[in-house]
Amino acid sequence: MKRLGIFLLLILVLSACGGVSGQDSGEGDQGKNKDQTAQETDEKKDSTEEEKEENKENKPEKAEKNKESEEAAAEASPEAPKEAQYQLTGNWSFEPINDAEPKVALLTIDDAPDEHGVEMAKTLKAADAPAIFFVNGHFIDSEEGKEKLRKIHELGFPIGNHTMTHASLPDLSQEEQKEEIVGLNDKIEEIIGERPKFFRAPFGQNTDYSEQLAAEENMLLMNWTYGYDWNEEYMDADNLADIMVNTDLLGNGANLLMHDREWTNDALEDIVKGLRSKGYDLLDPALIKTPE
Ligand SMILES: [Zn+2]
Repeated sequence: MKRLGIFLLLILVLSACGGVSGQDSGEGDQGKNKDQTAQETDEKKDSTEEEKEENKENKPEKAEKNKESEEAAAEASPEAPKEAQYQLTGNWSFEPINDAEPKVALLTIDDAPDEHGVEMAKTLKAADAPAIFFVNGHFIDSEEGKEKLRKIHELGFPIGNHTMTHASLPDLSQEEQKEEIVGLNDKIEEIIGERPKFFRAPFGQNTDYSEQLAAEENMLLMNWTYGYDWNEEYMDADNLADIMVNTDLLGNGANLLMHDREWTNDALEDIVKGLRSKGYDLLDPALIKTPE
């Protein structure tokens, strides 16, 4: 398989240089041979992780090309629903249901889509790193906000419910809580055509009623295992990337909380690389068991 991967890589390089297809090299031809590269990308998917890394680090132009063709492939054939392989545990982390790999970590981005959400989604997509984006209603009132939400969703990231106004739910009446939670699901559905499958309360503060609403809406309610980007000490990309990867709280199935913030955006790529270098797979939210 590795040999085939290298062979196809070679073809792709030649093709990109114009040697095989005769097309112009450079950015302009990406649209023309999209189908071809999409096919090749499909076949290449079995190539090893090292090769993928190598592509990204040493051949940025071609990595870019692969990324685009993967997007094209994803558009062409939407994936069938995946069977659940992980379930939430009592401490908000995840465990395999059967024989899935236990050494995984879930990335979540709260308070989105604010200033950096779309860029964060693009960074994650480029790294082939799945994540849940937990959205607040006040960010998706404007047309610009709606467009950001659509973009994040189109990039393939599940949208979670983080309430309409980021209110503290225990301070609210039942009617107000319903508007915060069910109202936001209605709003999100109007924009992207889907209701969220995940719920996270602001500050992790739930009530019996918010738990009931989440259940009625078939959403999996979760808090998190750890997060640091709201502490002043970690409002710095290097410090944040270091603690997110090297904290003692990182363990199998950890549920990592981050936010749509400048320093988190800057740290994101290093966080993904760091977790992977410690042997963690990034948990695909599509594999998480949610209420039906
Ligand atoms: Zn929040």
